This record gives sequence, structure tokens and C-alpha cells, in this order.
Amino acid sequence: MEQVDCVVIGAGVVGLAVARALAPQGREVIILEAENAFGTITSARNSEVIHAGIYYPAGSLKAELCVRGKTMLYDYCASHHVAHQRCGKLIVATSTAQVATLEGIRAKAAANGVHDMQLLTRDEARAMEPQLECEAALLSPSTGIIDSHGLMTALLGDAERAGAMLAVQSPVLSGAVTPDGIRLEVGSDDGSTVLLARTVVNSAGLTAPDLARRIDGIPPEHIPPQYYAKGCYFTLAGRAPFSRLIYPVPEAAGLGVHLTLDMGGQARFGPNVRWIDEIEYSVPPHDADSFYDEVRRYWPGLADGALQPGYAGIRPKISGPTEVAADFRIDGPRTHGVPGLVNLFGIESPGLTSSLAIAERVAELLEN
Ligand SMILES: Cc1cc2nc3c(=O)[nH]c(=O)nc-3n(C[C@H](O)[C@H](O)[C@H](O)COP(=O)(O)OP(=O)(O)OC[C@H]3O[C@@H](n4cnc5c(N)ncnc54)[C@H](O)[C@@H]3O)c2cc1C
Repeated sequence: MEQVDCVVIGAGVVGLAVARALAPQGREVIILEAENAFGTITSARNSEVIHAGIYYPAGSLKAELCVRGKTMLYDYCASHHVAHQRCGKLIVATSTAQVATLEGIRAKAAANGVHDMQLLTRDEARAMEPQLECEAALLSPSTGIIDSHGLMTALLGDAERAGAMLAVQSPVLSGAVTPDGIRLEVGSDDGSTVLLARTVVNSAGLTAPDLARRIDGIPPEHIPPQYYAKGCYFTLAGRAPFSRLIYPVPEAAGLGVHLTLDMGGQARFGPNVRWIDEIEYSVPPHDADSFYDEVRRYWPGLADGALQPGYAGIRPKISGPTEVAADFRIDGPRTHGVPGLVNLFGIESPGLTSSLAIAERVAELLEN
């Protein structure tokens, strides 16, 4: 049985950020990734937005780590030449009833330490974005967009320079907590190998709870249920009508069908919310029907047939459709009692924005 100091399970943006944070501490870090490349699952299937930290409940990990992660991420992008743009976003009220909601969103943002939000009248908003239709809007100047693959490439580069190693096509199948460390059975083309790790970070994203259940000795009461909420995107044929991101006021389980831009200037709409039982990434063309109605509330100029099926991502939920949205869970030894183990559960949006701050928190937990 091979002995290793530290195993990070999952090479998504969070696992890579964790490896980057741990490797310079003199730890021998191995990143085990089930797929044949890093960053192909949720980290490649999202809106690529650097969130400001507006909507999350005050005092939650989502609020704290998004606001801190945003600052860390902008600094990191600048120092590591990761493509990004602080383009700003408008949250739009499309009915008079929603105008009061904007004030509530601004107050929530302020409680999270986001103090740069500006309420705009209809005319002010339209002066910024002439094709926009709304009653009023809220400008978030610190929201931006990022090349998420560029970010992951930079994180992996840093981690590898500090001595970390990525092993792809290496799914962790099962494990057990032993007095000497955590034993992991790892699949490979030619059978399976067993590792004994002093520290393990379970950063397996969508299936992190199921993986934790397959490791004997992790108390089941510390493993949440696992739910999937799929979100489909549709891309816009032709030129983007806006230069900022446009969001409706948020809805249950998601932020509403919003317009985001990628670093190439392509506009996309989404994601919607569909709770599913099995992981699959189809984009049903008929989902576009509801998009037209929702988007035309703020962009009446959307032409029939302009939306093309894009891609889908799945939110790694740990609370169900009828429950209050759960916070991120960064469960260290003090929570579950297993030395050397950190479980990351429910790392949905704003996990990309928060990735560096989550990694910092994981490193702190393991240091203590
Ligand atoms: C539709 C959608 C839109 C989003 N938009 C945004 C946004 O605009 N801004 C933002 O900040 N956040 C956004 N997010 C959230 C963000 O994408 C995630 O929080 C982030 O990508 C999670 O990264 P991760 O590394 O935890 O998970 P993942 O990227 O899923 O990585 C987990 C990795 O673990 C691997 N793995 C799984 N099981 C095993 C195993 N047993 N052994 C080895 N490897 C394993 C997987 O193959 C995968 O590569 C969005 C999410 C969704 C779904």
C-alpha cells in the first residue's frame, strides 16, 4: 500500500485551488481525478461569472467566501494573466412590484460587505444599455466574467510548481478510516490501487456526499443528502445586445434566466432550474420556449428563433427542491471527528468565485 501525505479528490476549480494552497506548505499533494482531464464537470459548465456576493444570507459561508474570494480572484487573475473582465451587472425590475425588491437586494448586499451597489432609474439604466426594458435597476460594478479554464490551468500550474501531482482517470472508488490514516481504493485501467493518506480533501463536487458514504468510518450523520438541479443555457445567434450582464430579480433555486457574456463576447441565456435524479447534460430544445418569455421581459428585442441550445450544468445541491437553499459545507475534523479529513459539500454557485477563499479555509482547517 502506497503512503501519501495528502490526497485531493477531484480536479475541478475547487480541488485545484485546494491543491495550490496545500502544496506550498511542504505537503506532498496528489490530486486524483476520475475523468481523463481536469475541470470537465461543473467547473466547465457554469456561467463563468465572478459574483459580487449580493444574494446570500448574511453570515453564511457563501456570503463570506464569495466576497473574500472575489477580491482574491481579481488579484489572482491580474497577477497570473487569467482572462477576465470587470464588466458589471444590472439586476432589473421588470414590474413596479419588483422595484421594492431591488432595495431589499441592495440592503442584503450591504450586510455582506458589498457597498458599491447603485440603484438606477429606468432612464439611467437605459442610458447604459439602450436595448434594456425595465422599471428600475441595480448596478453591481464589481461583478465580472472570467475564463474558468484559464483559471484552472493557472491553478494547476501553481500547484505542480509547488510539487503537487495530478493523476487523471483515477477515480476514488471507496475507502476506510484507519488508525494510520485514510485508506483509498483508486480505480485505474489495470485494476485498482490502494493509497494510505494522512490527509484527504473530498472535493468531488456533484458526488462528494456519495463518495463520503463509500468511505467506512465517516459518521453518516455528517454526510448530507445529494440532489441535482440542472440548468440549461441557450446561446444567442448574432451580436450581444448588452455590454453588462443582465439579471432578473432572483427566483427559487437559481438566479433567474439571465444574460451573461463569455470572454469572446458571445451572449448566452440561462440557466433554468430542473431537478433531476441522474446526471445527464442534454439541452431540450423546447426549454427555449419559456426563455423567450422570460428574456423578453427585459429585452423585448429578442427575435424569434435567435436562441440556440448551448450546454447544461448541474448544481451540486445538498438541500431539496422544497427546502431553504443550504450553505456551503466545509467540514473538517472538528465537525465529523475524522482526523485529516475535509469534506466539501454543496459547493454550488458561487463556488467558482469563492474557490480561492474555500481553499484558504481548507488549508486553515488542516493546519489546526
Ligand atoms: C449551472 C451553473 C452555473 C454556475 N455559475 C457560476 C458562476 O457564474 N459563478 C460562480 O462563482 N459559480 C458558478 N457555479 C458554481 C461553480 O461552477 C461550482 O461551484 C464549481 O465549479 C465547483 O467546483 P468543484 O471543483 O467543487 O466541482 P467540479 O468542477 O464538479 O469538480 C469535481 C471533480 O471531481 C471529480 N470526481 C468526482 N468524483 C470523483 C471520484 N470518486 N474520484 C476522483 N475524482 C472524482 C469530477 O470528475 C470533477 O472533475 C455554477 C454552477 C452551475 C451548475
